[in-house]
Amino acid sequence: MTELKVLIPREKIAQRVAEMGADINRDYAGQSVILLGVLKGAAIFLSDLSRELRIDSTFDFIGVSSYGNRPTPAQELKSGWDSTGEVRLTKDMDQSMIGKNVILVEDILDTGLTLTYLKKLLMARQPKSLRIAALLDKPSRRKQPIQADYVGFSIPDEFVVGYGLDYAEKYRNLPDICIVPREG
Ligand code: 5GP
Repeated sequence: MTELKVLIPREKIAQRVAEMGADINRDYAGQSVILLGVLKGAAIFLSDLSRELRIDSTFDFIGVSSYGNRPTPAQELKSGWDSTGEVRLTKDMDQSMIGKNVILVEDILDTGLTLTYLKKLLMARQPKSLRIAALLDKPSRRKQPIQADYVGFSIPDEFVVGYGLDYAEKYRNLPDICIVPREG
C-alpha cells in the first residue's frame, strides 16, 4: 500500500464536529433526538458528535450491507466506489422510532444509493422527523438526488480512510481523514 495523504487533520475534524453539534443543539432546542449511526463507518463520528450535544439524546446503530458482488478494495480504488444501491439490513435498531426525532448519522454520502434506501425504509416507521448528518459528502459522485441536512466537509472524488472509514477493514482508527492514492 502506498503512502496515505492527510486530507482533513484531526483538529479540523474536531472543530467541524463541534459546529455540527451546535447546529443540532439549536435546531432541536427543547426536544430530544435519537442519533442513529450506520455501522461501522459512522461509529467514531457518532461518538464525537453525541458528546457535543446538550439536548436530550440517545443513540442507536443500524447495520447495512450491499447486495451483489462487492468490488475488491483494489477495484474500489481503481474505478471508484460503486455500491449497487440494493441494501440489506444486517442489524436493526433496538428502540422504536415512532413519533421520535431521528438523525441518521453516516460517515460519507457518495452515490447516495445507501441513504436513499435507508431513508425510505425508516420513513415507513413513522418518526416525528428524520434528518441526515454526514461527516463527508462527495457531491460529484451522486446518482440519487439526496442531500444531508448537516454536512461536515464536501470533498473531491477520492477514496478516503480514517476516522471510522476503512479500506478492507483497516485504517478505521486513524485520527485524520486520509486519501488512499489511486495507482496507475
Ligand atoms: P453511497 O454510494 O451509497 O452513498 O455510499 C455508501 C457507502 O460507501 C458509505 O457509507 C461508505 O461506507 C462507502 N464509501 C463511499 N465512499 C467511500 C470512501 O471514499 N472511502 C470509504 N472508506 N468508504 C466509502
